[in-house]
Amino acid sequence: MATRAMLGVFRKHSIASRIASNYKLLSTLVLAEHEGGSITASSVSAVEAAKSLSEDNSVSILLAGSGTSLKEAAEHAASCHPSVSQVLMSDSDKLSHALAEPWARLIHLVQQKGSYSHIIAASGSFGKNILPRAAALLDVSPITDVIEISGSHQFVRPIYAGNALCTVRYTGSDPCMLTIRSTSFPVVPISDNARSDAAPIFQVDLSTFDEDARGKSRYVKQSSQNTERPDLGNARVVVTGGRGLKSAENFKMIEKLAEKLGAAVGATRAAVDAGFVPNDLQVGQTGKIVAPELYIAFGVSGAIQHLAGMRDSKVIVAVNKDADAPIFQVADYGLVGDLFEVIPELIQKLPEKK
Ligand SMILES: Cc1cc2nc3c(=O)[nH]c(=O)nc-3n(C[C@H](O)[C@H](O)[C@H](O)COP(=O)(O)OP(=O)(O)OC[C@H]3O[C@@H](n4cnc5c(N)ncnc54)[C@H](O)[C@@H]3O)c2cc1C
Repeated sequence: MATRAMLGVFRKHSIASRIASNYKLLSTLVLAEHEGGSITASSVSAVEAAKSLSEDNSVSILLAGSGTSLKEAAEHAASCHPSVSQVLMSDSDKLSHALAEPWARLIHLVQQKGSYSHIIAASGSFGKNILPRAAALLDVSPITDVIEISGSHQFVRPIYAGNALCTVRYTGSDPCMLTIRSTSFPVVPISDNARSDAAPIFQVDLSTFDEDARGKSRYVKQSSQNTERPDLGNARVVVTGGRGLKSAENFKMIEKLAEKLGAAVGATRAAVDAGFVPNDLQVGQTGKIVAPELYIAFGVSGAIQHLAGMRDSKVIVAVNKDADAPIFQVADYGLVGDLFEVIPELIQKLPEKK
């Protein structure tokens, strides 16, 4: 009898402790990139991903840099998404450029103070550069390119250039570190009446930040195309050219067409390798991942590595002179034809952009 009573107590205790250990409040640190006084759209997508981890998730945004643009970005971050609980601002000249070494040490410092259960960044060059180094410092294994969150520790990510999806469960210690594909976590625009008050902004105490250990990389310069075209990663329409364009001179037709459509310009790796355009325009497995409303591909064969970067586009249009080109297997609209006839005709018939 006494044994049965003791067993009952033991069972109750173990159920209670199991419930307690399963029900753990989450706290997520989102690493945000900022530009011109605003945090990037992909960083807001990372907040959206953090929201899908759990309803009870306290989301902090970590920003670093210096000067007024950092302060403006912090204000933007504080009101960019209703799920943001606080913004942590790290103001230091040593952090003005997003180099992996100081950023990783900053994350290590912030994690020691905040004991976050998750750390998330968007899977762009910013996150892909910084997160693995920070994970190594924190001695955890990061999960990259997450496209779906099915539990606080269960994620879906593409493998084999997007030809298969893999469900992974994180069983390591905290923090669980993720990069997410921003195209898989679109941000729903906030209506004015749903807009909540701005989250508080706090300065990170950098007094113990080891600024002298500068690492091996050094900021040299940043060069970007002086263009008014939309950003490739977030554009509603993308016009892409492949090796079929044959030269950098001919590729200007793609740029002209994109201008008329208010679209971003993309390219295949073959077009980049041939020197038609710089590699920041490359779409695909080793380039940018895009999912615009309209993707128009000219002279693109449709290799799996290219499809890995654009197959989630809402409507795909392909123009290729080879009727058997694999791009037609994913295209919603296909035209078997010569791009050197089709593009000039489109440019001529489309109205000038106002
Ligand atoms: C590890 C790895 C990673 C890679 N990562 C990427 C990546 O991120 N992005 C990427 O794009 N590729 C990537 N690649 C390369 C990829 O395998 C292909 O080689 C590349 O995508 C082919 O580019 P393309 O379609 O422009 O060229 P091609 O395959 O040469 O195709 C050119 C197409 O143009 C058509 N064409 C020619 N002339 C005309 C005309 N006048 N009118 C109409 N059509 C015409 C042809 O019929 C052909 O289909 C990667 C490869 C590897 C191994």
